[in-house]
Amino acid sequence: MESIYSGYPPELSPEQQKYLVKTAKDWAIQNGLAVRPSPTILPAGADPNGVLATNAPVTLFPSPFPKGCFEEANALQTAYNELYAAITCNEAWLGKIIEDLIDVDDFVSNLWKVHLAVQKEGYVQNLSLGLFRSDYMAHVSANAAPSLKQVEFNTISSSFGGLSSLVRSLHTELLTSPPSYPPHPLLQSGVPPENSAVETLAAGLAAAHQAYGPSKSTPSLPLGIAFVVQDGERNIFDQLAVSRQLTVHHHIPVFRVASSQILNQTSISNSNSARPLVYRPPHAPESAFEVTTVYLRAYYAPDEYKSARDWEARTHLERSAAIKCPTVLNQLSGCKKVQQVLAEPTGPDHLSAFLKGTDPGIIGRLRGTFAPQYDLSSHGQGRELALNLETAMHHVLKPQREGGGNNVYKSDIPEFLRSIPESDWKGWVLMELINPAANAKNVALRNDGEVLRGNVISELGVYGTILWNNAGKILHNEQGGWLLRTKGKEVNEGGVAAGFSSLDSILLF
Ligand code: ADP
Ligand code: MG
Ligand code: MG
Repeated sequence: MESIYSGYPPELSPEQQKYLVKTAKDWAIQNGLAVRPSPTILPAGADPNGVLATNAPVTLFPSPFPKGCFEEANALQTAYNELYAAITCNEAWLGKIIEDLIDVDDFVSNLWKVHLAVQKEGYVQNLSLGLFRSDYMAHVSANAAPSLKQVEFNTISSSFGGLSSLVRSLHTELLTSPPSYPPHPLLQSGVPPENSAVETLAAGLAAAHQAYGPSKSTPSLPLGIAFVVQDGERNIFDQLAVSRQLTVHHHIPVFRVASSQILNQTSISNSNSARPLVYRPPHAPESAFEVTTVYLRAYYAPDEYKSARDWEARTHLERSAAIKCPTVLNQLSGCKKVQQVLAEPTGPDHLSAFLKGTDPGIIGRLRGTFAPQYDLSSHGQGRELALNLETAMHHVLKPQREGGGNNVYKSDIPEFLRSIPESDWKGWVLMELINPAANAKNVALRNDGEVLRGNVISELGVYGTILWNNAGKILHNEQGGWLLRTKGKEVNEGGVAAGFSSLDSILLF
């Protein structure tokens, strides 16, 4: 296992590196493997009209990844989809977990309040759509084959499906057009596996759009899908890859609505009890569309809710007839706390309860992907592990947040915990660090053109989509497409958008 990495990737002469960097950065712009530049890499006032784009951070080489782990992640995705749909349907079970977080976590508490408000009024849409990404590392332990361990499960704004299939194409072109790379047996061993992330994500959205049925407006309106996005989103090309697939392949109109504009550009008539969500495009104010599906690429972090108006907008979407991807409850099912409870080795068998009718073998394999996780309650083992410097070194402390940059790592854990009130500890979960191969290496081209080389850690994401109704009936459940993100070994965090890692692809071994 470790030997596969020795001598990989091959050394690059200055000329070879120059060639690969130039090819990658030109290819990236030619094909939309791009991001808008962050203000930090632009001199002040350099792009007043916002016209510039730069390559997304990418590795110059695909990374080796164990075939068994890759196949296992793909094989388990539809069961994972079902698990999180079932959790979302079980409001009592989820509510009990959330209840414990409410007094220590305002964000979770406010999300729960949105659910309660809409529940009080009555939901008018019983379908939910999940576009999920389950993230893993290949865990190495002495004398054993690498095993697949889950880092986390994402139920909101699972990104990079659009760009990751492009990285696969970039690396495939380099691999199949010698002499792009210096000779190395791994680079002659084949190409990265197919990546159908764009097709899968778009097909999930299209399934929801179809299931919505005819217009609920009088007179009836044309139907479309709304992508709710952040103002100034830099990762726009990733989103456009999915919306283009919807418009070109599925012939479904897609609108991009900034979260700050929801209350200005969409409305729900008081006189229609079906509560269709009507969108009026600011560029075509005479036209109106009914939104079948609201796809959130926003609203996953507290700083996106700047005022009561943002919570009002989220509630407005939630109470509408549009199918939400995700609903508030589905977003909450992705809390790190839920993942910790599922991973509890003793006590009730939650997996079997949620996955009735699923082959027990599959349930065992799902359980096999869990790394040890603990709460920090006074009676538990977690507290001891977190407060002792020696054991803390092997752990990460996670709050109920998404999007990267929120965790506390290793030796920082004891001091951090002692710096906050003990009553807040229950808002955090402690997770054992997964231990990926120690000597993997790669070279990354960052989006400011900087080239980094060194030891790396790769994280695999697998996409899945599921459409279900609140009685638990599943209308669509698919797995397809993957993401590999690679970061410097010394870096604890992992997000690409948060600036920690680069998009990569896979050579299976
Ligand atoms: P977020 O929802 O913010 O992405 P994650 O749970 O994915 O939170 O944690 C962020 C990053 O921290 C991951 O991408 C990974 O690099 C690292 N990380 C998280 N949990 C573990 C773990 N158990 N072992 C090793 N690294 C981890
Ligand atoms: Mg996440
Ligand atoms: Mg993550």
